[in-house]
Amino acid sequence: MAAGVEDQRAARGYIGGAFVELEGQERIPVLEASTGEVLAEVTEAAPGDVDRAVRTAHGALPSWSTKPADERAAVLRRWRQAMEGRAEEFATSISREVGTPIRHSRSIQVGNPLAILTHTADALTSMTLSEHLGNCLVVREPVGVVGAITPWNYPLQQVVAKVAPALAAGCTVVLKASEVAPLTAFILAETAGESGLPPGALNVLVGRGEVTGEALVTHPLVDKLSFTGSTRAGRRIAELAGSLVRPVTLELGGKSASVVLDDADLATAAKFAVYNAFLNSGQTCTALTRLVVPRARIREAEEVAAATAAKLVPGDPLDEATRLGPLASEGQLERVRGYIRLGIEEGARLICGGVEPPAGRERGYFVQPTIFSEVDPGMTIAQEEIFGPVLCIIGHDGDDHAVEIANGTPYGLAGAVWSADQQRAMAVAQRLRAGTVEVNGGAFSTEAPFGGVRQSGYGREFGRYGIEEFLAPKSLQL
Ligand code: NAD
Repeated sequence: MAAGVEDQRAARGYIGGAFVELEGQERIPVLEASTGEVLAEVTEAAPGDVDRAVRTAHGALPSWSTKPADERAAVLRRWRQAMEGRAEEFATSISREVGTPIRHSRSIQVGNPLAILTHTADALTSMTLSEHLGNCLVVREPVGVVGAITPWNYPLQQVVAKVAPALAAGCTVVLKASEVAPLTAFILAETAGESGLPPGALNVLVGRGEVTGEALVTHPLVDKLSFTGSTRAGRRIAELAGSLVRPVTLELGGKSASVVLDDADLATAAKFAVYNAFLNSGQTCTALTRLVVPRARIREAEEVAAATAAKLVPGDPLDEATRLGPLASEGQLERVRGYIRLGIEEGARLICGGVEPPAGRERGYFVQPTIFSEVDPGMTIAQEEIFGPVLCIIGHDGDDHAVEIANGTPYGLAGAVWSADQQRAMAVAQRLRAGTVEVNGGAFSTEAPFGGVRQSGYGREFGRYGIEEFLAPKSLQL
């Protein structure tokens, strides 16, 4: 139950291992996705609060960065245990603030971060942190104080995917959690404190991007930035960081394609595409929101997709039977409805869903699962990230054309390929310009590197690759 965070913790900041009063006076309401009612209020951290948190992280660096890797890994493992003990509290909190159906909150929103902690600890203990090259000993040192900024859609996973590898590397962290879904970050801070993480190694603040976020991005004592969020905000952060010559990892948006080749089991592929595209109401950066099928089989794809979507009846995220919840916020609702309207205006064929709220779901931020077919790859709805349950079906005329369509947006985060011939599917997968590609429904991994190319960002998260983002090599010439 989220009640524990509806009070003092959320109204404060977590600095130096304790919840403290902030200088900031601005209060930001956190709204329940299914009703629009106020769940909690958080205090926006002012630049002075950011300064205090960064100085605290800087002060904690000498002792944490010199702890042996095994000790740091042991802290991560204890942290995982502490989180697991409060898994239901995390899951409920996320279902309320984001709107994720409770079963998905448990398995994905909380399950993935737990797995990330295990993989990070395992990677740390198996990594080579020094090597001899010629007359040199090359050591890999923590980069220093990390400023981490995260979005609301997977509010725990995005935080853990940055904070765990940064701490594993020996860095200390100031996290600015999303102001839309901040509550789990405070529970996370509490569990970190209980796990033996030294005070000051992790500090947590909340606030809007232009206020708290930019104060963190530009603070003189921050050595590295790690950002997950929109391409718009990522661009701004990279500009600010560029002028400071400050390294940044950027995990940004996507417009990923599911490519179905002519020999594939189309029914299975189309079903997968719908479940994937509508997971978390389409508010998933890797959502496969374009289903690219052989043109001759487009009607078949439409039938399967519409029948699958019909099973996803929007409902209360706390109900065990719900598989599609509301969107996370009013802003999201307006944005997604705007794109549905635009798709109709652009002449795409609406095969299910639409701009009206689902029957009986006028309260909260619900939208109907919506599918457009015969979408031209150049249409706005096929080019821009909608971030809602909206799928575009696009016809292709062969493998080369399918690859061209899949690669034909400014993004490059994820993709999928389906074929009866695994080798053929893998050959096409290698032609997709994306950081992650599912082959014939291969499962999402929190162990292998995750990230994007082109306007989906740069740098990687998870496992060894995630830790490497926070290390800098140093050559000792002997
Ligand atoms: P957003 O960019 O609006 O905000 C993300 C975070 O950045 C928030 O904490 C926000 O306060 C902060 N922020 C915004 N402007 C800032 C600025 N100028 N300076 C510093 N901080 C700033 O994104 P969102 O709406 O919270 O999340 C949705 C976006 O995140 C989507 O585009 C989605 O694709 C992307 N996303 C990407 C990944 C990935 O790993 N690639 C994962 C999840 C979400």
